[in-house]
Amino acid sequence: MERIYNFSAGPAVLPQQVLEQARDELLNWQGCGMSVMEMSHRGKEFMGIAAQAEADLRELLAIPANYKVLFLQGGASSQFAMAPMNLLRGKKSADYVNTGEWSKKAIKEAKKYCSVNVAATSEDKNFSYAPTQDKWSLDANAAYVHYTPNETIGGVEFHWVPQMLESGTGNVPLVADMSSNILSKPIDVSQYGVIYAGAQKNIGPAGLTIVIVREDLLGETLAGTPSMFDYKIHADNDSMYNTPPTYGIYIAGLVFKLLKHNGGLAAMEAHNIAKANVLYDYLDATGFYHCPTAKENRSRMNIPFTLKDAALDEAFLKGAKERGLVQLKGHRSVGGMRASIYNAMPIDGVRALVEHMKAFEKQHG
Ligand code: PMP
Repeated sequence: MERIYNFSAGPAVLPQQVLEQARDELLNWQGCGMSVMEMSHRGKEFMGIAAQAEADLRELLAIPANYKVLFLQGGASSQFAMAPMNLLRGKKSADYVNTGEWSKKAIKEAKKYCSVNVAATSEDKNFSYAPTQDKWSLDANAAYVHYTPNETIGGVEFHWVPQMLESGTGNVPLVADMSSNILSKPIDVSQYGVIYAGAQKNIGPAGLTIVIVREDLLGETLAGTPSMFDYKIHADNDSMYNTPPTYGIYIAGLVFKLLKHNGGLAAMEAHNIAKANVLYDYLDATGFYHCPTAKENRSRMNIPFTLKDAALDEAFLKGAKERGLVQLKGHRSVGGMRASIYNAMPIDGVRALVEHMKAFEKQHG
């Protein structure tokens, strides 16, 4: 069967080689006579799989030794609560940057635990850009600063890392919801206190959530924090406090190996830039389609665009589907189209989309 090009924002396309390897190993992992799904998480086979996945992720992101890597569940949405529960550490407020739908959800949840200072917002222009740091009003007494480096729905990406204020005991920790752009480019982990991400875009299947946390931030949770929401408990138990999402960790491990094999995150970034340019170059050259995001904040992962006449949306989607291009309908809060082109989307998929866009413009323009 021909594979289709799936532009879903998540769960999203996985590398074909990874799916093939998982298929080949499905019933009998490396001759052990069991599926990974059937293994005890405390057995030596699975412990080896998890340790290798962590080692490969550490290598890919060059994670410093004073950071813990946690393989959790609950999605990025649980992190909206876990961040304040673990990071307030006696303080009463946190700074949040509001750049769209996911920031808003993080803010709403944090408000249950502390007072939230919205240090910057792009609401004035319908969340179509990321406010530059000279527009931020940070508080040196904030417990942490939270931002969303890639807004999956609006297609707004930060191509710079915010600088934190000195708080008297070091810089205020920076917390990033990297759900939709982790592993798309190299990052300097040491600039962050916590990085978290749901797996279902660039990492692996839904159900796995990755947290990278600096060790000195562990151990001072809010009173009443459930054990399952305590970073330190997971860290002290090597993410095996309860049964971890074993199959998700295994698939993520295969993705990490493939990324390493393909030249690591610098190579991935170059490929992602080339891919995104195929679509943005065309969007810039036509008046028939329009991309609402500010040029300097264009996401390489999620590219929203509208048609000149929204009445043509359905016909556009139908024609796309006939070419095997699916999941292009924009989020209900934005409308129009959205092409999510995560790491595993081949450049030929983006080219096929542009071919459809050109043909459709010719027919209806
Ligand atoms: N943050 C961002 C940036 C996201 O894109 C998503 C999901 N699309 C979430 C948070 C929520 O993630 P989850 O469904 O894993 O809770």
